[in-house]
Amino acid sequence: MTKPTKAKTRPQRNPQRSRMGSPTVNKAEAARRVKKISPILKKAYPRAKIALEFVNPLELLIATILSAQCTDARVNMVTTDLFKKYKSAADWVMADIKQVESDIKSTGFFRNKALSIKGACTKIVEQFDGKVPSTMEDLVTLPGVGRKTANCVLGDAFGIPGITCDTHVIRLSRRLALSQNSDPVKLEFDLAEIVPKKSWTHFSHLLISHGRNCCKARKPNCPDCPVAEHCPAANKPDLW
Ligand code: SF4
Repeated sequence: MTKPTKAKTRPQRNPQRSRMGSPTVNKAEAARRVKKISPILKKAYPRAKIALEFVNPLELLIATILSAQCTDARVNMVTTDLFKKYKSAADWVMADIKQVESDIKSTGFFRNKALSIKGACTKIVEQFDGKVPSTMEDLVTLPGVGRKTANCVLGDAFGIPGITCDTHVIRLSRRLALSQNSDPVKLEFDLAEIVPKKSWTHFSHLLISHGRNCCKARKPNCPDCPVAEHCPAANKPDLW
């Protein structure tokens, strides 16, 4: 007698998840969601802006490099004295690398950061007449400067729209089903299609504020979230 074969049971896949394990995204719906959540977030975070302190593009560039794996509060503490000591790109170029390392040590990864700062400033002096360039194309040629840093400098120092894909923007965009990508560059291009260009910089700040205050990485506060009614991941831990 043939043994009856057991029906194979497959684990149920959440229909909102794609093959990559992220919420599937419909661009038109995502654009509509951006339209709905933007005014709500603007009302919730009327003072949303970059947390790094700076007075010119060079200071923002340096602060952004220092902010990798470091809190903005710590970077601001360090740059208060740092920017009095190094005022121009040439000042950074002339500085002894060991001294720079020591000056920025408390921000972590100080050897790599010192190399990036010295490298970027050397190129700024040699190829850009001592001024931080104001295009994405040029900015990403600077050592240690990727699209995230470049967008931050463009948006906040030059007033040129830029989407800064930091950890909050990535996490919230995925939860809010604005993009299924976790790669920051792909996610930036997804957002660029659904967020009006003039709002790119501010929309990034709104998501960052919301990520810091409510939609935290480990435990998002969905019950108190002002955009919960528009969020596909609201109260759904399997989508966080
Ligand atoms: S509802 Fe929850 S998951 Fe969605 S944005 Fe708000 S806090 Fe984040």
